[in-house]
Amino acid sequence: MKALKELTRPNIWDLKPYSSARDEYKGLEASVFLDANENPYNNPYNRYPDPLQRDLKEMLAPIKKVKPENIFLGNGSDEAIDLVYRAFCEPDVDNVVAIDPTYGMYKVCADVNNVDYRNVLLNADYQFSADDLLASADERTKLIFLCSPNNPTGNDMLRSEIEKIITTFDGLVILDEAYNDFSDRPSFLSELDKYPNLIVLQTFSKAMGCAGIRLGMAFASAEIIDILNKIKYPYNVNLLTQHQAMEMLKNYPQVEAWVKTLIEERAYLEKTFSALPCTEKIYPSDANFFLAKVTDAKAIYDYLVAKGIIVRNRSSIALCKDCLRVTVGTREENNQLIEALKQYK
Ligand SMILES: *Cc1c(COP(=O)(O)O)cnc(C)c1O
Repeated sequence: MKALKELTRPNIWDLKPYSSARDEYKGLEASVFLDANENPYNNPYNRYPDPLQRDLKEMLAPIKKVKPENIFLGNGSDEAIDLVYRAFCEPDVDNVVAIDPTYGMYKVCADVNNVDYRNVLLNADYQFSADDLLASADERTKLIFLCSPNNPTGNDMLRSEIEKIITTFDGLVILDEAYNDFSDRPSFLSELDKYPNLIVLQTFSKAMGCAGIRLGMAFASAEIIDILNKIKYPYNVNLLTQHQAMEMLKNYPQVEAWVKTLIEERAYLEKTFSALPCTEKIYPSDANFFLAKVTDAKAIYDYLVAKGIIVRNRSSIALCKDCLRVTVGTREENNQLIEALKQYK
């Protein structure tokens, strides 16, 4: 890996971050807060939230088996994705490499930040070759984006290829594990100490059942986390979100129970879906959704919409012609989908 200073944009490396009232005062014993121009009434909403979400990170760290200083929290993983561009990629100069197809936000953030986005097609099994990705990289490539289990294909990427990218590439590797809870493959979080160039993304939006509160996690070396914290909005995670996330973590067995149920439902849905006349192929999934090749994705999508059932038509995406992406729902929702499709002619 190149030195972090060399990978970071010079203006960001030199940046002196905004110092908020809550940053400057760090003691605990005070009871009169006249430092932040807040309204003294309407407790607790009158107070600015902790800019570094310390209580929440203290709860999260043992669950994820990392140290609090290795955690960045943001307004969804999408904030972390945007921040890595802004921290490391000089607009119009640097570039990133990613697999294709994959999660759309990597490219959107590249475009917003005017960073060249180089994508490399997956093979017919929806796997990538590390050598192909590395061949697309050059001395101006700062980031490689990997997603495992991948969206929209649903499958885990081969661990050996992910490791090859991390150990061979001299920039930063962003590994998006939004769906790892649903996979039987271990997370790369336990490898964080071994790989200083690795940034793992996870989210409260999927297995944790909290898409509405907007909370994403990035895990990396303390040096990388410091850079992200330096450039984020001072109060990027609001009070309600921090509270709700802590409530959810107190009830972590619930999350594990949901995951178990959803994996069982995935198997049920895959089995019943494969038997439908309109299904041509189901792609293997390690996530809480699966991709299915159908006889006519547009027609079937429209048919389902008319019945009030919404799936995602991924036909326009590379390697996904006539593919629908189906999220695993409750047994009742899954049966409504299957019953509707049985009647499709
Ligand atoms: C859903 C999803 C996310 C989650 O994004 P949030 O902003 O945290 O809701 C991240 N990555 C991938 C690949 C996803 O599919």
